[in-house]
This record gives sequence, structure tokens and C-alpha cells, in this order.
Amino acid sequence: MRLVSTHGIAPPVSFCEAVERGIAPDGGLYTPAAITPLPPAFFASLPGRSLVETGVDIARHVIGDEVPGPELRSIVEQALDFPAPLRSLTDGTAVLELFHGPTLAFKDFGARFMARTLAWLGRNAGRSRLVLVATSGDTGSAVAHAFSGIGGFHVALLYPSGKISPMQEQQLTTVGGNVTAFEVSGTFDDCQRLVKQAFADPDLQARLRLTSANSINIARLLPQSFYYAGALAQVGTTGAPVVFSVPSGNLGNLTAGLMAWKLGLPVRMFIAAVNANRVLPDYLETGRAEAASAIPTIANAMDVGDPSNLARLRHFFDDRVADARVILRSWSFSDDATRRAMRMVYERYGYIIDPHGAVGFCGLERWRAQTFEPVPGIVLGTAHPAKFLEVLEPAARRAVEIPDRLKAALEGTKRSVRLEAAFPAFKELLLHSPLS
Ligand SMILES: *Cc1c(COP(=O)(O)O)cnc(C)c1O
Repeated sequence: MRLVSTHGIAPPVSFCEAVERGIAPDGGLYTPAAITPLPPAFFASLPGRSLVETGVDIARHVIGDEVPGPELRSIVEQALDFPAPLRSLTDGTAVLELFHGPTLAFKDFGARFMARTLAWLGRNAGRSRLVLVATSGDTGSAVAHAFSGIGGFHVALLYPSGKISPMQEQQLTTVGGNVTAFEVSGTFDDCQRLVKQAFADPDLQARLRLTSANSINIARLLPQSFYYAGALAQVGTTGAPVVFSVPSGNLGNLTAGLMAWKLGLPVRMFIAAVNANRVLPDYLETGRAEAASAIPTIANAMDVGDPSNLARLRHFFDDRVADARVILRSWSFSDDATRRAMRMVYERYGYIIDPHGAVGFCGLERWRAQTFEPVPGIVLGTAHPAKFLEVLEPAARRAVEIPDRLKAALEGTKRSVRLEAAFPAFKELLLHSPLS
């Protein structure tokens, strides 16, 4: 597989090189130069196949023989060791539950595949690597859990003290083992600055093998395309196109869906449902992408003012908005509309949906109201509702079951290393800890 940089200056690279580098040297995002569709027989054979089988076939088709067959299978098997069930609400509307992984959000898929791919790539490297991540919550715990127990890696997580939810903090600080949580007296931006300074420090670079494992790594995107095909396998209607409504922030999930569509997946329409952060709907309407500062909402994992994967999306369509509109709609929904949707889904179907999934539900409803097409609709359930108890209505709150893995984190002992937001102190800690 050849990947090009969205900035168009850095030379094309192989899949493995793109995963190693994370970001292209010209600052762009690596994105497939071309995507060859799978044969229609592949999609006809989906019903009844497991997510792992589907994932292995897609990965092999996309990556080629850069990663040998048995190793690729083992990466997919270990990364996807939890299900992605399709829960039908009514005839024609279903939720694809992507929150059965260790941190109860879909980011587990990408983080686990990336961790295992990096481990395979570094198998002969000798020295262990240090993954540095600044986090405001969910991404950090997915990355920490993904690398937890993987030999050859240490993880240093930096999070802003007092600025993430108590539940998120428990998820970050109870992993232990090869994961160290740094609790920074400062903001998320301070955490990011410390990480950037570490990568720019020649001394640290010489003495530690730093790895960013960042969210724009192509190895996080690819496995997210598997479950779109996995959803169709469960719908069972061979070949009939469906509508996917994707609750979106950084647009990674959406971009992975578009990859699946380019591979030949029969899709009638993608709906990118966003909260008050409306860069994508504005882009589709006007052809201009204008970054803004993030607006806080109750679907906070989607509070993104400058979505990084918009660059990949524009590259997909050669920046021709009219082409994008053929397969993609995007609407923004308020917190009020999101709360109404959560209530309505609970009252009408007895199903508890988290605020992100609820934004997706709003998107599907808007599409139905505009088109009246009798096409099956699938909303991506990106997080478990137990992560957002404070946003749920009292009745739903009482009904939600807390999964054991969340209970374990909530009951675990918090372990963090306190840190002032100053680089010299951080550097000392990195050099004189078991991390190095
Ligand atoms: C990250 C996240 C999103 C947004 O996904 P993108 O790929 O960034 O668009 C949606 N819902 C939840 C729960 C998330 O954690």
C-alpha cells in the first residue's frame, strides 16, 4: 500500500513506514494514494462472517504483503477481541455498539490495532520505546489500555489535574504496569506543550526512543473501517445499501467509513452528525473550511474546532465539495436536541444511548425527515452510556448497568505522578524513572 501526505510534499511511503512515522515529515497526514475496491463477491459473502475474519481480509487487501499473513491475523485477532454487535431498535433502525472494548468507547479499536502493529514493527529493535500522550480524557485511556502489558513499550500519559471527570481520571490512573499517569498542574494545552517539547529535545531523543502513537496514525484509522463491513454482515441483506450516521469530532470514524465505501461497501449515505462544533457542515455547504475554537457540549468527545481528518476527507474527494455531497451529509445538533433524542430513544425503545450516539440518532432522524427513503439506518454507538451518567435522565440513569471493567477502574487505587507544567522537571522525571 502506498500512502501520500495530504500536504503533497513528502514522498510516498509504505504502510509500515507511515505507521512508524505517524505524521508525514511535511506535517501532513498519510492517506492512501489509491484504494482498490474489493470484489463484489466479498461483500455478498459478509453475512455470517465474524468481525475478525472480515477485518483480516480487509487488512490483507489494503496492506498487501508488507505484514506477513499469520502476523497480520494475529494483530487483528488480538486487537478485536471484543464484539461490535448491531442492536436493532425497530425495523430499519439499529445501533452499532462500538463500546464493548476495555475503555468503553470505539477508540479501543484503533488504539489496540495501532499498538500491536507498532509492537510487530519494533520486534527486533532491542531498546524499549516510550509512548508519550497528552490527553483530555478518552483518547489517553484507550492508548494506555492498548499498550498495557505489551512488551517493549512504556506509556507516559499527561493529563490536566482537576480538569477531567473523576471517572476519566480513574480510568487513566489505575492501569498500572507499564503505564505511568502524570497529573499536571495546568491545562490540556500545557500537557500538549510538554509532550511537544519532549519530542523537540535532542537530549531526550538521543536517550529515549520516543513514540507519539498519535490519533492521526493511519494504523488507528484502518481497523475502524472493519466494523462498517461488520455491521452489514449483521444486517444480512446482501448488497442492499444502508445509511450510516456517524457522531463526529475529529472525523476519524467518518474517514474510516469512507475508506470502507471506497473499498466497495454498499452505502446509500454517510451522515456526519456533529454537536455545536460545525466545521464540517459549514465546509460542505460553502466549500470553505474554517477552524474555530472548540465549543463545549454534553457530547464532549466531539468538541473539536479544527478536525484533523478533514485534510484526509478533502484529499479523498480532491477537494470537490460537490463530489463529497453525493455520499455525505452533515448537520449540527444542539445540546437540547441531543437531550431530547436520549429521552425519546429511551421512552420509545427502552434503549439507553449515550450523548454522542444521541447526536448520531438526531442525524438519522433528520435524513429520514428529508428523504422518506425506506433504507436501513445504522447509528454508530461510540461510547457506553455508563460513561456519561451525569448527562442521563434519572430514569435512564437507574436503568444503566455499569460494566465490570468500569467498576474495576472505579474501585482501583489511583496512582499518578504530580508534575508542575515546566519542562525541566518533566525531563528529569523521564530520564530518571523506570520509563527510560
Ligand atoms: C472520539 C469520539 C467521537 C468522535 O470521533 P472522531 O473519529 O474524532 O470523529 C465520538 N464519540 C465518542 C464517544 C468519542 O470518544
